[in-house]
Amino acid sequence: MSPPGANLLANLFDLLPPAGRSLVDQVATLASESGLTAYVVGGPVRDLLLGRDLLDVDIVVEGDALTLAASLADLRSVKAVRHPQFGTATVRADRFALDLVTARSESYERPGALPSVSPGTIDRDLRRRDFSVNAMAVALHGPRRGELLDPTGGEADLRAGVIRALHEGSFRDDATRILRAARYEARFGFQIGSDTGAWIRRDRTYLDAISGARIHHEFVRTFEEAEPERCLLRLSNLGALKAIHSALTFDSDRARSLGVARLLHQRGARSAYWPLLAWSVRPREVETLASRVALRRSQTESIRAVPKVRAIESHLTKRLMRNSRIVEVVSPYPAATLLTLAAMTESSEVRDKIVRYLRRLRRLWPVLNGDDLLAMGASEGPLIGQVLKRIRVAKLDGEVSSRADETRLAERLLRDLSR
Ligand code: ATP
Repeated sequence: MSPPGANLLANLFDLLPPAGRSLVDQVATLASESGLTAYVVGGPVRDLLLGRDLLDVDIVVEGDALTLAASLADLRSVKAVRHPQFGTATVRADRFALDLVTARSESYERPGALPSVSPGTIDRDLRRRDFSVNAMAVALHGPRRGELLDPTGGEADLRAGVIRALHEGSFRDDATRILRAARYEARFGFQIGSDTGAWIRRDRTYLDAISGARIHHEFVRTFEEAEPERCLLRLSNLGALKAIHSALTFDSDRARSLGVARLLHQRGARSAYWPLLAWSVRPREVETLASRVALRRSQTESIRAVPKVRAIESHLTKRLMRNSRIVEVVSPYPAATLLTLAAMTESSEVRDKIVRYLRRLRRLWPVLNGDDLLAMGASEGPLIGQVLKRIRVAKLDGEVSSRADETRLAERLLRDLSR
């Protein structure tokens, strides 16, 4: 962490990519010319104090952020993407995004509802935030230029490694903060403060008031973490997973398997996270779970297959099995659920077979197609499908490899089967 009194803005510019530097510079100039004050706030300030790279920057403006965003976009000859319902706008340069929002204060009419928003000062704006470490700002210009605004003790909490909510009603107002707390704790290797932990346990039932879409969004952000298992384990141990749906379960075995899924299939591992969380789901729970966490259709299918895929494990333990037999057993099921079984099983025989299927066998098809068979004199009808199927089996089992092999086999099969 940077020492107190260090020049925060100089550090900020050091951590920004070049496109970000010029955007932040221009927004400061424009704000000051219009008599507004602009602050960097939230995550980027936290990451700045931690010395982490800054990928995006959030700016709070005391005054109209949308007009300022429009001027900035004009200056850069780009379009500002406006979200008028939230009073926010995004201006991009290369892959860098600057989010601008009008300083606001919020009140919650009922737990879990989106807050009613009114214009406010930077101080009020910081006090409405989730955790002290996210409730800091740095002024970009004016008399407080470069000063750290930290009304809730965020810098001290960063130094101590504590995630602390700002008041005891915080999770009742917005229970998605429970998922956020676990995420920050896991990402930074911090600890949720003891009061905050107690408030989470007391108020986790307010997760009921959060829509499926918002819950889903928080899980997606969790899955994007380098090691989501740390966060999921914590959510389980805070009782938050169960509070969302009783079929969501996670323990240290699952955490290990989640790491294994990543090793087995780096790009595909994320597709295994939902079936892994739902590894104990019962068939009758699938629909309520899918709707509670707003799953996409393919995610729902990957969960629906969980009980069936668990049941095929015992068919895959034999050491010697033909490839065609492996394909017959596993191919009816989604790749995501199969990868989950590969990650969960204790049998290396089962794991190796599924990996062989996912990496190679599922893409191993004959080079010949129906048109080739027609050209060889086959007549239209089910025979063509049967022959192609037999060629695939032979190919999977290594009995044919070249096109010439396939053609010889096709000729023989067409002769035998049309007799
Ligand atoms: P990350 O590194 O995960 O993106 P971030 O702090 O930038 O972290 P965002 O979700 O982009 O996270 O939110 C931006 C800021 O808005 C947060 O730093 C926090 O101050 C505030 N915030 C976000 N969600 C909430 C919430 N549910 N309740 C209160 N404040 C929130």
